[in-house]
Amino acid sequence: MTTRPERGQRTWRFLSAAMVAAVAAVPAVADPASAAVPRVAQRWTSLMYRSLTPSPEYVQLRKTLAAQRATLRARGELVGQRTATHSAAQNALARAISADAGARTRYALAREALTSARNRLTVVSQQRPRDPAAVTAAKSRVTATARSAAIRRGQASAAAAALRKAQSTARTATAGLDRATAAWQAASATVRTNQQKLISLDRSAEYARQAAALSRDVVTEVRAGFTVADTASVNGIIVHKSVTFAFRRMLADAKADGVVLSGGGFRTRQRQIELRKINGCPDVWTAPASSCRVPTAIPGRSLHEIGLAVDITSGGRSLTADSAGFRWLSANARKYGYVNLPSEPWHWSITGG
Ligand SMILES: [Zn+2]
Repeated sequence: MTTRPERGQRTWRFLSAAMVAAVAAVPAVADPASAAVPRVAQRWTSLMYRSLTPSPEYVQLRKTLAAQRATLRARGELVGQRTATHSAAQNALARAISADAGARTRYALAREALTSARNRLTVVSQQRPRDPAAVTAAKSRVTATARSAAIRRGQASAAAAALRKAQSTARTATAGLDRATAAWQAASATVRTNQQKLISLDRSAEYARQAAALSRDVVTEVRAGFTVADTASVNGIIVHKSVTFAFRRMLADAKADGVVLSGGGFRTRQRQIELRKINGCPDVWTAPASSCRVPTAIPGRSLHEIGLAVDITSGGRSLTADSAGFRWLSANARKYGYVNLPSEPWHWSITGG
C-alpha cells in the first residue's frame, strides 16, 4: 500500500479470506499509521470470520457426507425390499416342504394300494376252483391302483422339483439380503466415520468462544479511539465496522429461517443524552440505567455509542421475550458473536452489556 490511511480514518478490509490471513500475520511491531486500529477488534473480526466460514475441507466433506447419507438411505430401502423378498421366499419354501411331504405320503399310500391289489390278484388267480369274476375284479383293481400310483408319482416328482426350486430361491434371497445388509452396514460405518470427522473439522464454536473471550477488551479498545468513521451500514443499521461481517450474516441467516430482523445500532453521544431525557431518567449523567422509564445507559457507557450494540426490531416492533425474533436470537446469536442483555430482550451486543 502506498497511501496510508489518516489517523482515525481506519481501513477495515479484513473481510476476505486473504485479509484474514493478513490479519493473522500482523507484525508484532505496530505500524504507527495503523496504531489506532484496535488490534483486539481485528482479532475478534478475524475469529468470527473464521467461525462463520467453514474450511474448504469441511465444505467438501459435508457434500461427500450428504451423498453418503443418500447412499445409506438407498441401501436401507434395498435391505427393506430384500427382507420382504427373503420373507416371501421363506414362506414359499415352507409351503413347498409341506406340499412335498403331502405328495410323498400320497404316493406311498398309492404304492401300498397297488401292492395289495397285486397280492389280491395273485391270491384270486391261484384259487381253485377258479372265480373268473373275482379275477376280473382284481385285475381291474390293479389297473386302477397302478394308474393312481403313476399319477401320485408324477405329483410327488413335481412337488420335489418345486421344493428344490423353492430351496434355491430361498438361498438366493438369503444371499441377497446378506449382501444388502453388508452394503448397508458398510455405508453406515462410512457415514458414522465421516460424521465424526466433520465434527472434528468444525472449529466454528471454538473460534466463536475465542472471540467472545475478547469481547470486553474489544469494547474497551474500540471506545478508546472511536470515531463515526469506524461505522458502516448493514441493511440500514449502523454498526461498528468490526462486526459488519458477523452481523450481516446473522441477519441473512435469520431471514433464511423466516425471521426478518431490523433495528437501530449506532447512536451519537448527543442522541444518548437526548434519550436519557426522553426515557425519563432522573438525570443525564449519574442515575443508573434501571432508574429510567425505559432502561437507558449513562452517556459514554452505552455500547450503542460505539456501534457494538443493536436494538433489534422485527415487523417494526422491538423484540419481546416471547417474540419469534428473540427466540431465534436466543438460539443462534452467539454463533455471530452477539449476546443479549437479559433485562432488554431487544438489546444485543458483543458482550451482552
Ligand atoms: Zn440498546
